[in-house]
Amino acid sequence: MLAITTLHSWSYAEDLKFSEFEQKIWTLVSDKTVTEQQVYSELQGLNLELSNMQPNEQALFLMHECRIAIRATQQPNPQVLKKLQNLNRYEIYKYDSAALIKCKQYQEYLNSESDKIFLLEYEAFYKLNESDTPLLKMWLAYDFANIAMDAGYTDEAINAIGLSIEIAEANNLQEWVSESLGILALLQSDIKQTSLALLTINRAIELSRNADNIKILQLRQGFILKEANQFNDALAVYNNIINKENDYYADAYITAALNISAIYQSIGKNNENLKLTEKILTIIDPAKDPYSWHQANILRAFALLTTGQYDAANQLFYQSQLWFERNHWLVYLVPKIEEWAKLLEQSNLYKPAYYALTDASNLKHRLNIQKRQRDALLNNARLESEQHKRALLELSEEHKKANILLEKQQNEHNLIITIVIITITMALFILTVYLRLRNAHRLLAVKSHQLDYESKHDPLTKVYNRRYFEQFIRTKYNDDNIDALFLLIDIDHFKNVNDTYGHQIGDLVLEIVSKRISNRVKNNDKVIRWGGEEFLVYIENPDNKVNCIKLIERLLNEIYNTPIELKDNQLYVTISIGFGVYQMINQTQIDQVLNQIDEYLYKAKTQGRNQAVGNLGRLEINDESFITLKTSNATS
Ligand code: GH3
Ligand code: MG
Ligand code: MG
Repeated sequence: MLAITTLHSWSYAEDLKFSEFEQKIWTLVSDKTVTEQQVYSELQGLNLELSNMQPNEQALFLMHECRIAIRATQQPNPQVLKKLQNLNRYEIYKYDSAALIKCKQYQEYLNSESDKIFLLEYEAFYKLNESDTPLLKMWLAYDFANIAMDAGYTDEAINAIGLSIEIAEANNLQEWVSESLGILALLQSDIKQTSLALLTINRAIELSRNADNIKILQLRQGFILKEANQFNDALAVYNNIINKENDYYADAYITAALNISAIYQSIGKNNENLKLTEKILTIIDPAKDPYSWHQANILRAFALLTTGQYDAANQLFYQSQLWFERNHWLVYLVPKIEEWAKLLEQSNLYKPAYYALTDASNLKHRLNIQKRQRDALLNNARLESEQHKRALLELSEEHKKANILLEKQQNEHNLIITIVIITITMALFILTVYLRLRNAHRLLAVKSHQLDYESKHDPLTKVYNRRYFEQFIRTKYNDDNIDALFLLIDIDHFKNVNDTYGHQIGDLVLEIVSKRISNRVKNNDKVIRWGGEEFLVYIENPDNKVNCIKLIERLLNEIYNTPIELKDNQLYVTISIGFGVYQMINQTQIDQVLNQIDEYLYKAKTQGRNQAVGNLGRLEINDESFITLKTSNATS
């Protein structure tokens, strides 16, 4: 009849240990030595810290606040419910909404609407899939197991109580483990695993350190034995409880007595049962415990019937049957009516037996419809829970995808940065190499320029050297268009300068004289240091004879008239010049030209120095004719 489905697949890998906060709440709510009022006011004290709590902690806290507030005041507590609803509205995907549903269910308890209570319990339990709060899970699993067991949802109850035990064990909650084992034992008994159920209940009794709890567990032990038709053992357990119990009116006493009555009924101890049920009914206060009172009535009806008192029996039975019907205790009632019918039949009361069976059948039908309706609602709840779970999963998948995309973008970004850095580094390296090379090249150019200069110039006077002239003059060979004026200038009595003033002053004189010569000629003309104190001047295509003579005379006069300023005194020097104009032809002829002007110079020396000797006609080689130019006192 009950569709056995695969139930929650609890993730056993998840941490079942209580957080520090859960531990705090647990210590508060599990303290059985304080009243609910005290627990409530302590929770109210904690309430101040609500804003500091995580959403799941708030949910846990508010669930307990709701539970205790309602139980302490027996009034609905809309404020707590509203807080949970608000929390749920904003944090729906982050924490369990089980707490909210559980709070709604606590409100329903005030209305005693068992169907609504059951459905809310069920919904809350299914929402636990989303919870990451072990204490909430354990609490709700335990509650659900109790309700599901009473409603006949044995498999689901076993599954839930398993979770409750697991979390309790993970947190060393011995008493909670014991209580949960007590439920498990009943469930095992339900599915006819009697020996297992007895082992479980014994383990539960062993674990418990709480006298009230042990009493409840022993009652269950008796019940399991009774259900397994082990009547003597069951009676022993129940009598043990009754003998120990010094309070007649205690729940344990009444429960034990009711069960003994049922056993008496089963084994035909009818007279004893008559006495027992009479006693039970005097003990129970129907206003306080109508359920037990009506159970006792049913049992008394059985005792009356089996002792032949049909009318009294029938009246009692029917009255309580109606009460159970009205209060929807059909799960308990239907088997009792069936048993009633059997007893009627045994007493040959066929007509009432038939009516009773018809009643039982109708109620069974109602029960079935009710069950099917519940199943439909439960399936709906399951479906919703699955959808919610899937939505959460998809949400986290999307979150993962977004993260992967982000990471990819980050990697690409990093790659670009790396490439940029490498490129910049390489560019800088290349630039450095380029700059160094360029620098080296410049230095080399400077050096080579310097070397080139040095190779062409005289280091002391900075005029051209003889090597340069020899190269230069080759470029003029065989050029018919060139006429050149050559001057060979020699400083007179230069040895005396050295001897009188020293070599340094001699050097200075050489520098100054060379500078004066250079200043007198044009840029294209060449001044060459020809020997120690001899200078050759090459003037290409001179203007005319007159200008040539003017130049030579100015040179002679400038040197002669301009003293060289020394530190303490002035030094006067003179020069002698040999000169001539020639057309460039070739190497041999050049040598002859130079010899010729050297001869003119020699002539100038021998004629008395401080004068120039030469020829300004286009001279033929070995031409003996010459002119002499001399200084005048005035420089022009
Ligand atoms: P003359 O009038 O006949 O030309 O007499 P002179 O003394 O000038 O001729 P001579 O050739 O006898 O002497 C040239 C001197 O020039 C000899 C040498 O010591 C000097 N001399 C040659 N080169 C240099 C130089 O670079 N620096 C200095 N201070 N003296 C030099
Ligand atoms: Mg000389
Ligand atoms: Mg000389």
